[in-house]
Formats: sequence, structure tokens, C-alpha cells
Amino acid sequence: MLFTLAFVIVFSAIYYMLGNALSRNTRRDLLDDSVEIMRAYRKGNIEALKDYISGEAEGDGPANKLIRIIDLDGHVVLSSDTALWGNVPLPGKQDLGRKGPVIRAFRIPKRPGHEARAVTFFVGNYIVEEAVPIEWDVRLLGRLRKAFGLGLFLTVLVAIPSGWFMARRSSAQIKGIDRVARSIAKSADLSRRVPLKGSDDELDHLANTFNLMVERLERFLRELHDMMDNTAHDFKTPLTRIRAMAETGLGTRNPEEIQGTLVQIMDECDRFLSLLNAVMDISQARTGTLSLKKDNVPLKNLLQDVVDLYSGVAQERGIRFNVTYPREENLVLFADKKRLSQAISNVLDNALKYSSSGDTVALWTRSGTGSTEVCVADSGLGIPEEEIPRIFERFYRLDTSRSTSGRGIGLSLARAYVEAHRGTITVKSEPGKGSTFCIMIPREGGLD
Ligand code: ADP
Repeated sequence: MLFTLAFVIVFSAIYYMLGNALSRNTRRDLLDDSVEIMRAYRKGNIEALKDYISGEAEGDGPANKLIRIIDLDGHVVLSSDTALWGNVPLPGKQDLGRKGPVIRAFRIPKRPGHEARAVTFFVGNYIVEEAVPIEWDVRLLGRLRKAFGLGLFLTVLVAIPSGWFMARRSSAQIKGIDRVARSIAKSADLSRRVPLKGSDDELDHLANTFNLMVERLERFLRELHDMMDNTAHDFKTPLTRIRAMAETGLGTRNPEEIQGTLVQIMDECDRFLSLLNAVMDISQARTGTLSLKKDNVPLKNLLQDVVDLYSGVAQERGIRFNVTYPREENLVLFADKKRLSQAISNVLDNALKYSSSGDTVALWTRSGTGSTEVCVADSGLGIPEEEIPRIFERFYRLDTSRSTSGRGIGLSLARAYVEAHRGTITVKSEPGKGSTFCIMIPREGGLD
């Protein structure tokens, strides 16, 4: 509709301006002629005027010019050939009453449908009228009107149906998104998606973004659900144990035994609390809300503390423990010291846990331009390739490690902490040959 309206406005403006210009042109020609006629009269009075007029009318041809001299009584004193003009009415009194040249328009009686424009002015005691047909102008404007009509018809034929089609198409897609959003809101069924048209336009992008958003939401809720299930299952065991301990304590009157049971309950509660904290940290890290207490951490000191904690265990279990500290003495990472050493400890703890006497565990670091890697390798149990993606899931443990103590939370916590530092944790492993875990942490400006 707007396009059609614009077309009408533009055409009308062109039509009006052209019509005006043509009429101004004729007017100017007529007025120029009137000046010439007056000049001729001034030179030689009425006779000279008559000569001039007949010469002028003949020059242009009788069809193209009509010149008449009228006396003050309204009688035509002299007229050019009127055969092609017919009985053109004399100018009205109102036109003659004025002093200056007057322009008027009339239909040519001899040529139906044709118009003419005339200038009337006084020359001495006579009135001179000169008329010219404006056929060409009228024809041009008529053609323009026809072209406009055709243009308007084509515009209406093309613009309105295609506008209607485009509007319907966009509103259909918006309605599609609205329908799916409403149905999700009503039924909480996140498996619904908006069908894509594949047109690669804004609305298709919007529908695609909407689908991606719903997909993420669905995945997030599924993970939340799984986590709730797993957590509930995993919390059951320590709570049942605590309850059993309390029951044992109630069944005895021996104060020492009661004291011992209470200490056991406290230990179990502490373990339970640390599990709870770990689960909460993992969830927060996944949703990006885990707040890190970052500081400049000298990597060597951090590794020394971790190694001190585990070298006793390695010795006890007859495992060779090779440590290579960073060559750069002052290598500093901008990190949360507690969380980073927890992540490295968990990986090292596993390496020792899943190795046997005679195996070797090695720890070393590697420094790149923007990041530092801490790697832990063992020659222990190893992990089958298809299980590797799953070992980072919460509470996931391989069947082969059921006999070893653990809660299946160490690696998911390590990954959560590392990813909160915008780092990565990778693993290479071969069953029976051992595993290598590498933690990469970007240095983020906390440079040495
Ligand atoms: P867990 O408390 O069971 O050690 P983790 O989350 O730390 O829990 O590890 C998940 C599982 O990955 C372990 O149960 C074990 O099966 C496997 N795993 C982890 N590290 C190693 C390793 N170095 N060698 C062999 N298996 C490993």
C-alpha cells in the first residue's frame, strides 16, 4: 500500500510540474508575440499591424495560429484564416476590461477535443487576440496519464499481492515461534522446536536462535535432573551410615563407646559436608557463578605443597614418584590457589590410587607463551578409550575401580575448577599401560 501511495505521490508531482512548465512555456511564447505585435503597431499604425499579422499567421500555418483584430464595439476588423478554427467566441468583457495582456483557454470549435490558449491585449483603439493550439501539450499529458494508469495497475498487481505474501510469510514465522513458546510455557515440554524455512533471513535466524535457546535449556534441565538424582542417591549412603552409627551409640551405655561413636559421626558429617561443597562448587562452575579468589600464585610453591602431601603415600605404596618442577623459578600464575591445588591434587591422588607397587607416577610442567601446563602421568590401570569422556561426569566410576575407595567426584571437581580458570583438562590413556592427565591454565596477565 505504501509503495502504491508513493508511486501516486511521485507521479502526481511529476504530472503537476510538467503541466505547469508546458503552460508557462505557451504563456511566455504568447506574451513574446504580443510584444512584437505592439512594436509593429507603434512603427506604422493599424495598416502596418495588419501586414505584420497576416505575415505572422501565414508563417505558422492557419492551423497553428489564429490572430484577430477586434474594434472596441466588438467587431472583428481583421482575422487570419479561421477555416480550421471555426467560430471562436470573442473574449469576454471581463477579459477586455483589464489593461495588460490577458491569457485565456478555450476549446477549438472546429476541432472537437482540442484546446487552445489565447492572449488578448489592447493596441491603440483595437484589441488584438492571438491563439495557439495546445494539442501537443495535451497529448503529452494524456500519454503521461495513460502511462501512469498502466504503472499504477502493474504496481497494484505486483506490490499488493507480493506485500501481502511477504507479510503473511513473516507473520507465519512469528506466529510459529509464538505457538511453540506458548506450548512450552503451558506444557513445559522442551522437546518442541520451531520448524526452520531454510531461507537464511532474519526470521529464520530468530527461529534458529530460539531453538538453540530451548535446546540449551533442555540440556541444562536434564543435567540438573540427573544431578539431583545422583546427588540424592549418593547422599543416601553417608546419611544411612550416620544413622546406623547413631543407633549403635544409643544401644550402648559405655561412655567411651558413646564418645567414639560421636567422633565417627563427626568425621562422617565432615566428609558429607565436603561432598556437598564439592557438588555445589561443580554446579556453580557449570553455571559460571563460581567466584574465584585469584591472586599471584608462584607455581613452584604450589606444586611443592601438593607433592609434600602425596610423597608419603607414594612411598608407602611402593610407587616411584618423579617430580620435575618448573625451570622458571619465578613462574607465577594468576589463579585461585586453593582451587588450583585441589584440581592438581585430585589428579595426582587418582594417579597414585589407580597404580600399584612398582609403577611410576611422574609430575612435570610445560610453559607456553600464554599458558602453563601441569601434567601427571602414571603407569597404572589405564582407562578404555570409550570411557574417557565419562570419567569427568559427576559420580561416574569405572567398574574396574569399584574396589578402590572414592566417590566419583574428584575429576568432575578438577574439571570444574580448571574451567572456571578458563583452562582445560585433557587425558591420554591406554588400559594396562597408564594415563596422562594435563591441566592447562592461561596466565591471564599474572605473568612471572
Ligand atoms: P574417584 O573418586 O572414583 O577416583 P574421580 O572422579 O576422581 O573419582 O575419577 C572417576 C573415575 O575415573 C575413577 O573412578 C576411575 O575409574 C577413573 N580414573 C580416574 N583417574 C584415573 C587414573 N589415573 N587411572 C585409571 N583410572 C582413572
